[in-house]
Amino acid sequence: METLSVKKIKKHNFFAGPAILPQQVIQQAAQAVADLNGSGLSILEISHRSADFVSILEEAKSLVKELLNIGDSHEVLFLTGGASSQFYMSAMNFLNEHETAAFVDTGAWSNKSIKEAKLFGNVETVASSKDKNYNYVPKGYDIPVNAKYLHITTNNTIYGTQLHELPKTDIPLIADMSSDIFSRPLDVNRFSLIYAGAQKNLGPAGTTLAIVRKDRLGTVTRTIPTMLKYETHIEKNSSFNTPPAYAIFVCMLTLRWLKEMGGLEVVAKRNQEKADLLYNEIDRNPLFSGAAAKEDRSLMNATFVMNNPELESAFAEMAAAANCVGTKGHRSVGGFRASIYNAMPKESVQVIVDVMKEFGAKMG
Ligand SMILES: *Cc1c(COP(=O)(O)O)cnc(C)c1O
Repeated sequence: METLSVKKIKKHNFFAGPAILPQQVIQQAAQAVADLNGSGLSILEISHRSADFVSILEEAKSLVKELLNIGDSHEVLFLTGGASSQFYMSAMNFLNEHETAAFVDTGAWSNKSIKEAKLFGNVETVASSKDKNYNYVPKGYDIPVNAKYLHITTNNTIYGTQLHELPKTDIPLIADMSSDIFSRPLDVNRFSLIYAGAQKNLGPAGTTLAIVRKDRLGTVTRTIPTMLKYETHIEKNSSFNTPPAYAIFVCMLTLRWLKEMGGLEVVAKRNQEKADLLYNEIDRNPLFSGAAAKEDRSLMNATFVMNNPELESAFAEMAAAANCVGTKGHRSVGGFRASIYNAMPKESVQVIVDVMKEFGAKMG
């Protein structure tokens, strides 16, 4: 079979999600659609019970464990329904009706998790940055001592803020890490649950990674439908029903790539360098301002506005002409957002920085 070729750099992809994947992963994924490991079958048509797929799933799970240094306390699951399903599934499995869960409100996604958790128990929003359109991360709040867990959103994709430190508390954490999972090392032991839709920093849409602490399960008394119980998916190794095999395969390729790069310490250092490159220009260039508080700036999604909004469309055109796509800000923030996930090469960040410099020179 002919090897498929993919153009080297198609576009500099700054979309927030679905988002850029490593070029090597795209090539391997394309190849496996044509023919998986010379098997004469496509990844799209093999059984989820086949030895080929079972080994893909096992490799994906063990790479997650290795990269995040996860021991036997936690189980790695590949689920469906997006991070949005985890908003209710987390509360359904971890919160009894009479119990209280604490939430930090850092934006639209936190809000959705709060709304769904309220269906299952008491919810206390212990801090919110709504007063400033979520342009910062609240710190120094009190958490009720009886809280079953504290729910956080570690990276706020829309506003470009990120928690650079985990909250100082002994209360178990539950976290939506959809847009910064695998961007840095992490102490998984502090979490009852970590969940992340794959399509920001891990793979294509279609699967959701869940990392569940096993000894915290089975503590709610309600009846939970079989598909919505973490125990079901643990027992059946993420294959209770047909799993999204292709999405899991592509996640596995990305996890291999992360390991080849040297693991999450190396990845975190690269991410810091890329973010510094972009934020330095945002701060240097008199035409632009960062949208998020400096100390809370996201290393994954850089949000910025033009000091003169009338120049926005001219800058957008110049960025598009330089093959930079997906830079439009979310409607609730406006301006621009450059998502620079793990797979974004530093060279592409340099391209947008050069466009900003050039635009500055032209307008200056
Ligand atoms: C994109 C995103 C979601 C929604 O994920 P789905 O998989 O589409 O449900 C939730 N939380 C955060 C932080 C996100 O960035």
